[in-house]
Amino acid sequence: MAAVELTDAGKRYNGRAGVVDALGQVSLSIAEGEFVSLLGSSGCGKSTLLRVAAGLLPLDRGTARVLGRSPDQARQAKQVAFVPQTPALLPWRTVRANARLLTRVNRRGEAARSLPDDEIDALLAEVGLADVADAHPHELSGGMQQRVALVRAFALGAPLVLMDEPFAALDEILRVEMRYLLLRLWEEHRSTVVFVTHSIGEAVALSDRVAVMAARPGRIAGVETITLPRPRTPDDEDTDAFTDHVRRLRHLLANGNANGPSGATSTSTSTSRSAPRRLERYR
Ligand code: ADP
Repeated sequence: MAAVELTDAGKRYNGRAGVVDALGQVSLSIAEGEFVSLLGSSGCGKSTLLRVAAGLLPLDRGTARVLGRSPDQARQAKQVAFVPQTPALLPWRTVRANARLLTRVNRRGEAARSLPDDEIDALLAEVGLADVADAHPHELSGGMQQRVALVRAFALGAPLVLMDEPFAALDEILRVEMRYLLLRLWEEHRSTVVFVTHSIGEAVALSDRVAVMAARPGRIAGVETITLPRPRTPDDEDTDAFTDHVRRLRHLLANGNANGPSGATSTSTSTSRSAPRRLERYR
């Protein structure tokens, strides 16, 4: 059974700027336990796809299944955790209480997988937050707050974790640290992760596969399988294999954006040298 299965998924917005096909006809299958990144420039439908999988947004066309049920059913059964761009911690609660929050609310869910409190405390310690467990969010740096949000998501024990550019607000040094922290948590918990990012390096470092998205209509321009062994370390980012993946993804991004709706659908090799200027938007 796939963790996420989109078949000919279409989503159209009727906004003030007119009609936008945020998702054209997207098909994507993500296996249980897989780490998949959605990579692309702003407006290509990454957040829309994530919100569909989270059960927060219905499709207009096609189907979406999460762990064999509708995304809405999966969300209600607490099978899905969502990590937004900003940590969204409750300011009046301590770090420890914030980390436990999702295991407390919505008890209707199949909460058997939620971590017990002592394991959540151990997770906080593992990510270096033991000393601030009784502090409040405003006393923490941005990076520390985002670590609380990660612990909160994994504490839920949800088999599917959706992340919408969770490190976007952090500086590059912290971002790199957070990558490997996230990978450690994922390797311990073995959830499926779908991770939205603008950063090619981040996508390569984290993922089993990277789905490159392009806009108008929002679609998958190509999928790159990342062959770097696991567990991964920051040193992997200095290897030729890493650089090769980055180069291929750059080409996929450039071609996907340049080619229009007829862009490729599933390839990991692209040799075109076109449109180098477009690459400046990506790190
Ligand atoms: P991304 O996450 O890749 O930046 P989004 O999924 O947020 O892309 O948006 C895809 C397209 O849909 C964009 O053109 C965006 O402006 C449009 N869009 C997103 N949400 C809405 C909305 N609620 N109403 C109208 N248009 C929207």
